[in-house]
Amino acid sequence: MKQTTPLTICMDMFGCPNRCLHCWLGHMPNRQMEAGADEWIVGLFKPYFEEIEFYSWLREPDFCADYRERWERDKRLSVNCEPERFELASFWRLVRDPEYVRFLKEVGVRCVQLTFFGLEETTDRFIGRKGAFRELMQANELLLENGISPRWQAFIYEENRGELVELLRLSEKLELDRRCAEFGGSFKFFIHAGSCDGENRKLYPIRIEKGHIPEELVPYFWRYDENLPESRLCAELRDDPSHVVFHNEDRIVLYVSNEYDLFFNFTHMRPEWRIGNLKTDPIEALVRRVTEEDTEALREASRITVGELVERYGDPLSEKVFEKEDYLGYLFNTHLERLFAEKR
Ligand code: SF4
Repeated sequence: MKQTTPLTICMDMFGCPNRCLHCWLGHMPNRQMEAGADEWIVGLFKPYFEEIEFYSWLREPDFCADYRERWERDKRLSVNCEPERFELASFWRLVRDPEYVRFLKEVGVRCVQLTFFGLEETTDRFIGRKGAFRELMQANELLLENGISPRWQAFIYEENRGELVELLRLSEKLELDRRCAEFGGSFKFFIHAGSCDGENRKLYPIRIEKGHIPEELVPYFWRYDENLPESRLCAELRDDPSHVVFHNEDRIVLYVSNEYDLFFNFTHMRPEWRIGNLKTDPIEALVRRVTEEDTEALREASRITVGELVERYGDPLSEKVFEKEDYLGYLFNTHLERLFAEKR
């Protein structure tokens, strides 16, 4: 009998032009997957799931020259549903291909998120590409000209906190609220520290402390009250006998790397989190691991308590901010990394 829980498959078929220092997925080489890999993978899961939502990308959307055909093909490969567009687009493509913004309009995109880390030099350095900031500004104008609202997201760290105030001032100077309102859209600016997965784990030393968030930015800080200093989280969680739970409730989301490794959408795509490989593991075994959530990492999560994680890896003197779920993920990944390093 087929699973009634819907399945989402996201494949890294084309990669990403950026190498952001905060990339929660983790840096992976760009490698174009074989033609037909998409159809083959959906075909593997079709006998087991009634509904399959298919995406050919999991890093940069539309990072392929034939994005129009690609979108139609993603829709055609999906089973009993259609993929969504979300508020995401490729700013790399926006500034290189005049047709692309028209395509976004056609498929109903009304808002596109643009990610900043400060002004020009800092944003270029964090995105890993010279010219990225100028491209973002150019993309911002193109979106506005075409009646699509830009949404500015900025990641805050100790070293760029002052610059983010300048970024906010720049957005005000550009009168983005008024210009979006002119075509019935709305501009949004928000900042956050991000989860501590993937590449962002390496930025723990410069993670922002709660007391260092500039006052002007507090109204724009996403879930400000839920972001707590590590010292407080350690105090609250140190006797917690429960376990960190990673679980897909209403929909199973799977990521496929360009080497056919299969992952859940839990935390990052590191070897410790691999469910298996679509080329070398039998599909029956992979589907069982997916539906029973039975992988080495998840088994380990049920062995160690939150209290033990805090005791071993938490820093009760740190004022760095985390949301509780992100902090638990950070502690558990620290544990997994040490465990796997010992085994190797
Ligand atoms: S965060 Fe997004 S845009 Fe940046 S490197 Fe990762 S996948 Fe690419």
